[in-house]
Amino acid sequence: MTIASAVPAPRGDEGSAVDRTFARPYVVSWNLTYRCNLACEHCYLDAGPAKVSLPAFADRSELSTEQCYRVVDEIAAFAPESVTILTGGEPLLRRDIVEIVRYGVAKGLWIVVGTNGVKITENLARILQAEGVRGLALSLDALDPERHDAFRRVRGAWENTVEGAKILSRVGLPFIVQTTVGAHNRSELGAIAAFAHDELGARVWNLYFLVPSGRGAFVSDLEPAEYDQVLGELAKIQRDWSSRMLVNAKCAPHFVRNLLQSDSAAPFPKSFAGGAGGCPAGTHYMGIRPNGDVTPCPYLPLFAGNLKESGLGELWNDSDLFQRIRRRTELGGRCGECELNTMCGGCRARAYGMTGDVMAEDPLCTHVPGTLQAAVDRLRPTAVEYGQPATITLSWEPEARERMQRIPAFVRGMVTRAVESWCEKNEVAVVTAEVLESIRARMPTPKVFGAGAAARTGSSSDSGDA
Ligand code: SF4
Ligand code: SF4
Repeated sequence: MTIASAVPAPRGDEGSAVDRTFARPYVVSWNLTYRCNLACEHCYLDAGPAKVSLPAFADRSELSTEQCYRVVDEIAAFAPESVTILTGGEPLLRRDIVEIVRYGVAKGLWIVVGTNGVKITENLARILQAEGVRGLALSLDALDPERHDAFRRVRGAWENTVEGAKILSRVGLPFIVQTTVGAHNRSELGAIAAFAHDELGARVWNLYFLVPSGRGAFVSDLEPAEYDQVLGELAKIQRDWSSRMLVNAKCAPHFVRNLLQSDSAAPFPKSFAGGAGGCPAGTHYMGIRPNGDVTPCPYLPLFAGNLKESGLGELWNDSDLFQRIRRRTELGGRCGECELNTMCGGCRARAYGMTGDVMAEDPLCTHVPGTLQAAVDRLRPTAVEYGQPATITLSWEPEARERMQRIPAFVRGMVTRAVESWCEKNEVAVVTAEVLESIRARMPTPKVFGAGAAARTGSSSDSGDA
């Protein structure tokens, strides 16, 4: 099945048919600033005062408020249903952060803020909530304050972040907790997940794997075998929390391999096959640098162009970089031969950071291609294929569009993609509420698509990286 199908009309133009060569991003991660009040040793953006001044991060200029408004206009016109993550550096250090949020919300964007949490006060949380921020993402790397502070390189950071999380819980602003795995916390991942849920009230816990980009290029990472062990542990943590907190791996697209090995009938591998998983760089996801440079993934220091000179849709659809990164059959080494290619694709930023070739195999994956062929064949009817031309023109009825708005932001793009894929496969040209209902009944996680449950569970996602 191709998913390069025609896409629903942008907001304000529902019901008319729009044909494009590739669908839109469902997560836009926008680094608003290089300024930061922490100095994390692994920072992929090389943000804050501890910079090592890499060439790809040399232009540290920021878009003005007016230029940011124009970027919001671009996102609202091209990818109105995407989640827009305002992050940094520390985005709360921008004096105009509330104005940018206000403008984005007025344009209909679903906005979340990725922050280290240090600057959250009750007053600021209430302002962000009143302005329409849907949620925040906070970073917590250890249960022991000293270890967290050493990793983030600022004394008192742990206390401030934990206090920030408690404020958000009190105020009722949803948040996720994100943890970067390494030697400093390798032995306590399950305990951190429990702390995030039980003590802080997080609805989502994401475990990040280091990508050798920015200052992260100079930090030692897990060995491939240890990486596998962590993914195995994560699969167990995910099962343990399955009905209470969403747990996922970030920057580790071959997590799908561990899931398939442990239970190929579980819903998560099915959703990977449906286009939810794998490396989303350039297929579901794009990044914007503080100066307006556009990249398929914030961790990947390769740029399609700059929004001061080009349109967002133009860069997404036509740039060589975005077109190339989607052609997974042209990946090198084991990733090119792999039966999990369409569900995984390997981390492109890690491949680039470790080899200099964005299409090389993911060096930290230990998979031997072919060994999971049988499990993949069972999922094949639902598997998507990236980088194919559009085969139909699709339109959405307003009622169907309205119903999609009730789906939690962190899965809405994925569900949109699944709906469009299903319509293309079944030659359905108009998405109606009845079509959605019919698809809902077939989905591995139908509850997330329900009319009422979705609105009640609304939360945020910090990023779409796999
Ligand atoms: S070989 Fe590449 S595509 Fe296959 S599982 Fe590993 S990282 Fe993913
Ligand atoms: S898996 Fe893909 S989206 Fe995630 S960090 Fe790697 S390149 Fe970026």
